[in-house]
Amino acid sequence: MIDPACIFCKIAAGQIPSAKILADEHAFAFMDIGPLAEGHLLLIPRQHYVTLDQMPSEQAAGLLRHLPALCRALKQAIGCEGLNVLQNNGRVAHQVVQHVHFHLIPRTSGDAFGFNWPADKYPAGRMEQLAAAIVAALKE
Ligand code: AMP
Ligand code: ZN
Repeated sequence: MIDPACIFCKIAAGQIPSAKILADEHAFAFMDIGPLAEGHLLLIPRQHYVTLDQMPSEQAAGLLRHLPALCRALKQAIGCEGLNVLQNNGRVAHQVVQHVHFHLIPRTSGDAFGFNWPADKYPAGRMEQLAAAIVAALKE
């Protein structure tokens, strides 16, 4: 399904111009217009899904199969030392455009991009309790 009001659906359909990197039945990749680093790309499904959990696995597989080649191409073309693949899923997670997209952000030492990564510790038993709940939810 395509959402005629969605900017990324319009980009994938060629109705809004973009600096295209690749396109196939499932996927479209293009340059992010507001780069966090030079070469910042977006990989999106051609179909309209707001969040990743809404995607059928075949669609997700068809989309994500492009990630390794895109990473290799960025390393070669940009000369970055590494990169972050980032998927903001939901407004609370800083998703601004409401169409699934994966950011590929080239990284070089000393660059401006960073994370707040507040790593914590679980109280005894809590991690196992949560793991069991997630495993049970996965089986539903
Ligand atoms: P997010 O915060 O994960 O929703 O990120 C949305 C991304 O889409 C931002 O990095 C924007 O710079 C990018 N973006 C928005 N509009 C366009 C556009 N027309 N062409 C390319 N990138 C865009
Ligand atoms: Zn869309």
